[in-house]
Amino acid sequence: MSNDCLFCKIAAGEIPAKVVREDEFALAFEDIVPQAPLHVLVVPRRHIATLNDLGDADEALVGHLVAMARDIARAKGYEESGYRTVFNCNADGGQTVFHIHLHLLAGRSLAWPPG
Ligand code: 5GP
Ligand code: ZN
Repeated sequence: MSNDCLFCKIAAGEIPAKVVREDEFALAFEDIVPQAPLHVLVVPRRHIATLNDLGDADEALVGHLVAMARDIARAKGYEESGYRTVFNCNADGGQTVFHIHLHLLAGRSLAWPPG
């Protein structure tokens, strides 16, 4: 746990969030400024600042985050209509919270390419 990390504090239950799903390795909670009818952030419990900080041993963990996003999309009924999953990395990627998180967005037609 990083003491000054917002998502570590959410994972530890020190800052409230609307948790959608959680397990030993990860949790998913609603984004505070939703950009779509469903906007969930899937984060590892362990602090990893950016995708650049992933080690080879973290491949299964990242797969777990993606699988959790898939399960939420399915449970919320967006499997067929579709959804988007995104990791932002550093400034040009638009990352503002430095604890990796997979955005899951669904419920409207999303533009491509992103702005
Ligand atoms: P990033 O820009 O780093 O890819 O995404 C950070 C996301 O975290 C943003 O979509 C932002 O709305 C969300 N966020 C920032 N602070 C909080 C918070 O305190 N609680 C929750 N649930 N989401 C937050
Ligand atoms: Zn953290």
